[in-house]
Amino acid sequence: MKFDIAVLDGDGIGPEICAAAIDVLNKIGQKYQHIFNFKHYDIGGAAIDKFGEPLPESTVKGCLESDSVLLGAVGGYKWDNLPGDKRPEKGLLGIRKAMGLYSNIRPAKLWKSLAGASPLKPKLVENGVDIIIVRELTGGIYFGKREHGTKDGEEYAEDTETYSVKEIERIAAIALELASKRSKRLVSVDKANVLETSRLWRRTVHAYAAENYPDITVEDVLVDNMAMQLVKNPAQFDVVVTSNMFGDILSDEAAQITGSIGMLASSSLGDGKRGLYEPIHGSAPDIAGKDICNPLATVLAASMMLRDSFGLTDESKEIENAVQKMLDKGYRTADIYEEGAIKVGCRKAAELICGEI
Ligand code: NAD
Repeated sequence: MKFDIAVLDGDGIGPEICAAAIDVLNKIGQKYQHIFNFKHYDIGGAAIDKFGEPLPESTVKGCLESDSVLLGAVGGYKWDNLPGDKRPEKGLLGIRKAMGLYSNIRPAKLWKSLAGASPLKPKLVENGVDIIIVRELTGGIYFGKREHGTKDGEEYAEDTETYSVKEIERIAAIALELASKRSKRLVSVDKANVLETSRLWRRTVHAYAAENYPDITVEDVLVDNMAMQLVKNPAQFDVVVTSNMFGDILSDEAAQITGSIGMLASSSLGDGKRGLYEPIHGSAPDIAGKDICNPLATVLAASMMLRDSFGLTDESKEIENAVQKMLDKGYRTADIYEEGAIKVGCRKAAELICGEI
């Protein structure tokens, strides 16, 4: 099969980690006889330098014409003092909007060979952690009606949470589809004991699941309990779906459990198969251009792209297995290095993964 991939290298370590992911995709392509065509477009600081804006029209067009998009990271010291709408991060928000992406999928996987990196006690993570948090991305309180003013001589502020059945159904559909390919269990997180939006959320998720995914077990967990359970017994969770604000907080909590930011990938999806795949970390300007960064989050983002956008499940699994084998053999980039390991750089890490494929 043939796929067009738009690559947005971005800034800092962006070009290094994207190059590593491209090497791995090419290796998979060779083995399984797929052709991946890569076209690079500018975003973030790199685009500001060339075009005077963080998201040029050519980048939007290239992404919309592609089968999927791989993003490195944006931002850096050089552009830190620009006004809000001219900053590199604006490019990210813009491309998500232009591509109509309303879900954010954040796997938090603790690789057994990296269990020591988790801040939790070893006995809590001895069976590994492999959670996917599906966060609604374009609705809820972050996008609701807001007000700030003075009433009866006192300053006040107000943010409103709104969700429609359609918004809840479409995010539930993404989470249920993922759950159907994994454990067939879905945890839906809300605050239905207090919030009206949560009561609608709960009813809608159950009704949609019963009608479209009757073989999936849906369990409800209140958000305060979820925050506790994530650190008490993270291994109990598989796929989790939740609203924009709860997902924002819980996905960062889950990420911390794994202890290594350089290992975590994320994707954003909308209607259709095209998605935006990226590491969760930033552009790490402090280590850019030194060939010492960890490319694994981006390589794993590419693996998610194969599975979730292209339906290439075996190929995706093969990348994950190759990463596992490389770690099992003791190879580590500087950020996850521990005594007795073999320290490698970004390019070497990619070469080792290719060698395992
Ligand atoms: P960061 O994630 O870039 O870096 C935090 C720390 O983690 C740094 O010490 C960095 O060296 C290290 N690190 C990050 N990724 C690594 C990797 N792959 N391998 C090894 N070490 C890694 O966060 P920050 O320092 O707060 O932000 C730097 C820039 O990135 C800022 O301009 C920020 O706005 C931007 N940023 C972009 C994104 C994105 O593009 N999605 C996300 C977060 C931050």
